[in-house]
Amino acid sequence: MGKRYYCDYCNKSFADNPVSRKTHLSGVVHAQNKRAHYDAFRDEEEILRDEANKRPCRTFLSSGQCKFGDRCQYSHLTNDDKAGLADIVNQKKKLAEMKLQAAPQKVDDDKFIPSLNAWVKRRAEKRAHEDSAETGPSPKQTFSDAIPNYQLAACLISVVNPPPSLLPPTKEELINADYAEWG
Ligand SMILES: [Zn+2]
Ligand SMILES: [Zn+2]
Repeated sequence: MGKRYYCDYCNKSFADNPVSRKTHLSGVVHAQNKRAHYDAFRDEEEILRDEANKRPCRTFLSSGQCKFGDRCQYSHLTNDDKAGLADIVNQKKKLAEMKLQAAPQKVDDDKFIPSLNAWVKRRAEKRAHEDSAETGPSPKQTFSDAIPNYQLAACLISVVNPPPSLLPPTKEELINADYAEWG
């Protein structure tokens, strides 16, 4: 048994040779089946657009029959058919809009458009988060809290009676110091 050619569009197989294949693929029945197959994937908007460009088929619209069938170059759609298709198109559009509105707005413009301001803002937020995570809410710092606790330098510990200029100042001395105004 030789190879057979199977045509998906026509659901038909025949002995495969260049001549029979060419005959089948250029045949009217194959063209119709192929078109019918792809027509099934057209959505209502496409059909409506295609049909709007055709003149109405008088034969079909008056008798309900046309010998050209799907291959007719004129439109077989009645006004009711077109109105029905237009309704479906509108409903689909409305549904798509509703879905769009119902969906949580995940799109954060800051993340897609590089901007210095957005970066600074994110950095500040991140730092604030890290700070609060490390120390917890910090109590309000007073002036006295801000003063470091100065220690005597290690090399002076063994020195008896070090000169006062080398002694670390105490907090009280710093707070009560008589600061001169600059200027
Ligand atoms: Zn075929
Ligand atoms: Zn027709």
